[in-house]
Amino acid sequence: MGTQLTGQCNCGYEANVFIASGRAQHGKVFKYPHHCEACNSLTSIDMLGDDFKCTECGSDQIHSYAASTKTLSYKSLLNRLPTDVLKTAGYHRSDVVHEETFCYPLKKTFVFLRGDHYCPKCKLNSMRFFTSMLYD
Ligand SMILES: [Zn+2]
Ligand SMILES: [Zn+2]
Repeated sequence: MGTQLTGQCNCGYEANVFIASGRAQHGKVFKYPHHCEACNSLTSIDMLGDDFKCTECGSDQIHSYAASTKTLSYKSLLNRLPTDVLKTAGYHRSDVVHEETFCYPLKKTFVFLRGDHYCPKCKLNSMRFFTSMLYD
């Protein structure tokens, strides 16, 4: 199952990106949202592909929107720590997770967090994503 996210920024930039893939490409294609520094746009990169390049301009100056921190169990005592301390320790709370997607071929979980994200157009952390479509 794939997810389409729509990113909308205060500057007016809006674009769709994709997580994973539909059933037909399951296990062969696993897309994930990135932004490209060369053409300043959002792009969806196939993490199972051979080369990680922007689908818009072909540059490899791409950066993933996957969280670099791990999701903390809601039962963990670490939840008592302040958010910035948690982040330094390499964790985020489960309530800030927008979508968690396990990629079987890579045996890796990709986490997309809620809140403000970096916008490749205006270079501010003022872009928000919402799930605009689920596809099969
Ligand atoms: Zn590009
Ligand atoms: Zn912007």
